[in-house]
Amino acid sequence: MARETKSARLERMHSEYALLCDEIPYPKCALNFSTPFELLIATVLSAQCTDKRVNETTPVLFEAYPTAHELAAANPQDVEDIIHPLGFFRAKTKHIIALSQAIVHEFDGEVPGTMEQLVTLPGVGRKTANVVLGNAFHVPGFPVDTHVIRVTARLHWRASWNDPKAKPELIEQEITACFPPSEWTDLSHRLILHGRNVCKARRPLCEQCPLNLTCPSSLV
Ligand code: SF4
Repeated sequence: MARETKSARLERMHSEYALLCDEIPYPKCALNFSTPFELLIATVLSAQCTDKRVNETTPVLFEAYPTAHELAAANPQDVEDIIHPLGFFRAKTKHIIALSQAIVHEFDGEVPGTMEQLVTLPGVGRKTANVVLGNAFHVPGFPVDTHVIRVTARLHWRASWNDPKAKPELIEQEITACFPPSEWTDLSHRLILHGRNVCKARRPLCEQCPLNLTCPSSLV
């Protein structure tokens, strides 16, 4: 098969994204939150756990500890009891208390609203920062998770599609360069939802996929 030119790939990306927009017209963050602090904590808790389970647990957590001030001063045992169902509860308890203490000490108790500041918080990388920026601050953000990595590789949306060690930061740069910033947050949500529901890790449901006519990895 002839090598696809950069401009042909860009054109294909945009038509495939239009199909993803039809498939998922109203993408939204799967984690429930009402403040940037709640979203930051929920995102940390969602590691190695389903968003559904996090959503079942966070109402109790945030009722007891509504802001960084309360969580920073929490008794770890009490927090562990609440987040026990989420797995890795001891490590997660330490993490969210340390995170809250840093927010109190460094940012007067308010979650900062820039990438530069967010990544100074303990255990907060670009992925978590992008989730918080895009969804709680409405600043364009493109979180790269396992679904985004897999789907953009199968679709050959990036030059590094066949590199299993491609760095999330480079994937973020390459994909965001192809779309306007206003689209980044929704683009990430759509890729994540498409990866969860259709382009699944073990067995992609290519027969049901609206992109199967142009996707280079389609099995149909
Ligand atoms: S056609 Fe198959 S491999 Fe390609 S995006 Fe759809 S589900 Fe994934």
